[in-house]
Amino acid sequence: MCVEHKKMCVCGQNSASFQFRDEIMPDEVLEKLYCPVCSSGVAYDAETMIRDNGWIIKYDMEIARFMSQKLPAAEASPAYLFDEGYCTWDGIYPTDRADSVREREELVKLANTDKKAYIERFKSWGISRMNRLAQEGWRKADEKQQREEPLQREEDAGAGVRELSEVRT
Ligand SMILES: [Zn+2]
Repeated sequence: MCVEHKKMCVCGQNSASFQFRDEIMPDEVLEKLYCPVCSSGVAYDAETMIRDNGWIIKYDMEIARFMSQKLPAAEASPAYLFDEGYCTWDGIYPTDRADSVREREELVKLANTDKKAYIERFKSWGISRMNRLAQEGWRKADEKQQREEPLQREEDAGAGVRELSEVRT
């Protein structure tokens, strides 16, 4: 059940792990992945794309619509595919899966050397991790604000990306 879906971004400098809830959507629904490096030149299209902290996922909406008869919702949108888990980050953010494994390994190492520090770290690990991710602005870590002002947040993210690309050139 725990199949790893790893996808390289268009420029090839970064990759992300994906999950496909109930394996309803095939891998091919994930048409393109842009990391913060290669997303700056992309014309954002809300009909086919979702944006998260500088990353952009482009879905093949033809495939999504074709497969959507198996979904609970009548119509599959990029936000629906992402937020409901049918084609989304494996975890909260693109490299969450790999990072979690590494962070847990470090915790285990600590357990072998300093048990008291390990217990303290273990108690706060999940919470402080979630707070940090919400602060960084990942869509899935910040669901409350998403629900309140989804449109405005989309606009804000777009402006941020544009400014960044202007600074770079
Ligand atoms: Zn890239």
